[in-house]
Amino acid sequence: MKITDVEAIYLRLPEIDALRCDGTQDTLLIRIHTDAGITGIGEVDSSPEVAKAIIEASASHLISNGLKNIIIGEDPFDREKLWNNMFHGSSYYGRQGAAIHAISGIDMALWDIVGKTAERTTAQMLGGVYRNRVKAYASLVMPETIKDACLLAEKFMDMGYKAIKFGWGPFGADDYFDVEAVKAIRSVIGERTELMIDIGQRWDAKHAIKMARRFEEYGVHWIEEPLAPDDLEGYAMLSAATDIHIAAGENESGRKAFERLIKEGRVDIIQPDLGRCGGLTEGKKIADLAYAEHKMIVPHAFKTGILVAASTHFAASISNGFLMEYTVSDSPLARTLVQNPVLFKDGYVHLPDRPGLGIEIDPDAEARFRV
Ligand SMILES: [Mg+2]
Repeated sequence: MKITDVEAIYLRLPEIDALRCDGTQDTLLIRIHTDAGITGIGEVDSSPEVAKAIIEASASHLISNGLKNIIIGEDPFDREKLWNNMFHGSSYYGRQGAAIHAISGIDMALWDIVGKTAERTTAQMLGGVYRNRVKAYASLVMPETIKDACLLAEKFMDMGYKAIKFGWGPFGADDYFDVEAVKAIRSVIGERTELMIDIGQRWDAKHAIKMARRFEEYGVHWIEEPLAPDDLEGYAMLSAATDIHIAAGENESGRKAFERLIKEGRVDIIQPDLGRCGGLTEGKKIADLAYAEHKMIVPHAFKTGILVAASTHFAASISNGFLMEYTVSDSPLARTLVQNPVLFKDGYVHLPDRPGLGIEIDPDAEARFRV
């Protein structure tokens, strides 16, 4: 079996709000074709045009090549070899960031192909299914007012979610607002629903320690990305100073970055995004690193139904997976691109039993959002 073509398709909503931290406004869809007629689907969470250029770039020399050139004619079952070839072949400009993001989408599509070919789910191909359903938390951008946050919390509790996260927006700018918001949301969702807060990198370590102490009485399950991603010393200080779990990792790509986050940052909850971290192949290595250090993995996912599917297969197939992010964005791109999305029911996503990732792209949605 040989790879015959790699398509990198830029999709976006007609209007993008660049001031909103919402990754569901655009995406880079990856479609890999083979000579067996089997096609794989993947998704990159990056700047789509940057990642597309990395895939389509002409060869410059041995270690400065476009990813498509590197994998055309190769066997999609050679996932490890192809991952290493792409890493090596892009290492002049890559090794982390956008090049790894682009590799992630290609890797995801390869895992879709091998599943479809073997007539097994991607989760089975990844090494085995630990759980057929994964708890999924409702992930919301924090609205401007506490009242609106409470209304949203009520809505998602009614839909059956057992965990909810509010992040970015006004969070992190005003201590009084932050504490009042947490208090009010907790009163709406009750004691048994897990509540997570994403600060969007707005604090320094000492401020985060002070605020974590104030959040403790409201049973916040984790504080996400309170600090700049490179402040590993700050993360280690914060993790040692509070009982609240500290979560981070969506910004990282490649196992070395995660190793630092785990070993130097002492972060509790590790959040690789399968469309950024290096895909499922690298994601498994990151999960193993975390497992060896007794850390839990909760995949970050704020894109379309493709990433939801990849995250579901991933979280189902690692021993330290128990929960995943589930964007409840009403972006029509996020909601319609996949025509048979992973089933969400009673607070859980259910692992599809179809081969590969188990999803199909809606051709009308693809045509509608194609740039
Ligand atoms: Mg986040």
